[in-house]
Amino acid sequence: MQTILYEVKNGLYLNLTNRCPCNCSFCLRQNHDDPGNEESLWLDREPTFAEVKAALKERDLNQYPEIVFCGFGEPLEAFDVLKATAAYLKTFYQGNIRLNTNGLGDLIVGRPVAGELKGLIDAVSISLNAADAKTYQAISDSCFGEKSFDAVLSFAADCAKVIPEVTLTTVATTISKEDEKRCAALCAELGVTYRIRSYIE
Ligand code: SF4
Repeated sequence: MQTILYEVKNGLYLNLTNRCPCNCSFCLRQNHDDPGNEESLWLDREPTFAEVKAALKERDLNQYPEIVFCGFGEPLEAFDVLKATAAYLKTFYQGNIRLNTNGLGDLIVGRPVAGELKGLIDAVSISLNAADAKTYQAISDSCFGEKSFDAVLSFAADCAKVIPEVTLTTVATTISKEDEKRCAALCAELGVTYRIRSYIE
């Protein structure tokens, strides 16, 4: 069974892809099939926009204060379906549209992508993961190597120009308190919010 949509707390989450260029040490996918509900988020194949739209039409979307591109993979790996879906939602959905991303969209797609999200995404949560490239790579194991960290910062800076709410996150206990202070300073420089999120077993 394909789980394209799933609920977490009050939000409706979209699962567009299982592809991801990283293999983060804290990734839920290491030990789970799902983010806490009963549906497996491993897809047999990626849904088309038509399939996503059909799944969305089965729900009363305005009961959800937030719709989130997240899932068991990096949503920007399915960039075209994501943009088409967000544009469709923007024609009638009143709530907040959020993207949870590893911030490597520019490297995945091969061009700067934040500008293409203008008017489609209201909030973006980007995994900063670390305060420097070496530590980032040790934690995230990106297939793009150490240049990934600068790509995340560049994507975040671009997002800050076009997306109303930009948050960079690290996971509690994965980096030192000293590095958390450095991350906070990086975020202050970028003019974005810094959040330390809990580690989920
Ligand atoms: S970027 Fe997200 S989906 Fe990819 S490995 Fe890291 S935590 Fe998992």
